[in-house]
Amino acid sequence: MNTRYQRQSFLGEGSQTVIERALIGIVGLGGGGSHIVQQTAHIGFKHYAVFDPQTAEDTNLNRLIGARLVDIGREKLKIARRIIKGLQPDARVLCQRVRWQAAPDVLAACDIVFGCVDSFQDRDELETFCRRHLILYIDIGMDIHQVDGDPPRMAGQVILSAPGYPCMKCLGFITPEKLAREAQAYGVAGARPQVVWPNGVLASSAVGLAVAALTCWTQNARAPVYLCYDGNKNLLTDHVRLQFTPKECQHYPLASGGSAIVTAL
Ligand SMILES: [Zn+2]
Repeated sequence: MNTRYQRQSFLGEGSQTVIERALIGIVGLGGGGSHIVQQTAHIGFKHYAVFDPQTAEDTNLNRLIGARLVDIGREKLKIARRIIKGLQPDARVLCQRVRWQAAPDVLAACDIVFGCVDSFQDRDELETFCRRHLILYIDIGMDIHQVDGDPPRMAGQVILSAPGYPCMKCLGFITPEKLAREAQAYGVAGARPQVVWPNGVLASSAVGLAVAALTCWTQNARAPVYLCYDGNKNLLTDHVRLQFTPKECQHYPLASGGSAIVTAL
């Protein structure tokens, strides 16, 4: 008998099969995405679509899970693939060395997409795409805010956005003001601070949400999820905005799902 997954058999009968059959998309492999790669490979996922156009640099090594010193200059995709194949030699890994927008068909086939991207615009576009294709979207991210005279503040979020349920706009996480501010500051943001441990907390929580959604082991999977991370206090809590979120999403009505229809002008 294969005892490899014995310690996670509480997930339920057939859960390992569900996990093995699911196609997960991971967009962005630099920080949180590298944790998600590692954990999902341990859990037993075998179908991946991974997106990242970048190569590893020395400044990535403080947080890029699976990277070694000799990997400087290597594609992040190859580092991810090595982790997955080391644990799941028969896994199918669709490596996309492009921004996800350049390979929409690959992303559209995913059952769950993890968004580990930097900008609000990217998140907004990813969620819109996932809604249209009825894909469960899980977003993670962190930032450090510097205020003169105060210690740096580390904050982050984990959001689960499910078709038919409140979206990141409903939750007040994506707002026209944030998108406009970001567009104005484009190119002047510089290198943002990033460290490994908050990524680990956020990615672990995202993986937990995905496994719960696939296996229903908790018997109370819910949507949306909006977890707020306070890195200064090491706290992960329900965001207060959840209480004020409308029950139904007006931004992405279920009826507008499905493939885009292109017509000649
Ligand atoms: Zn909405």
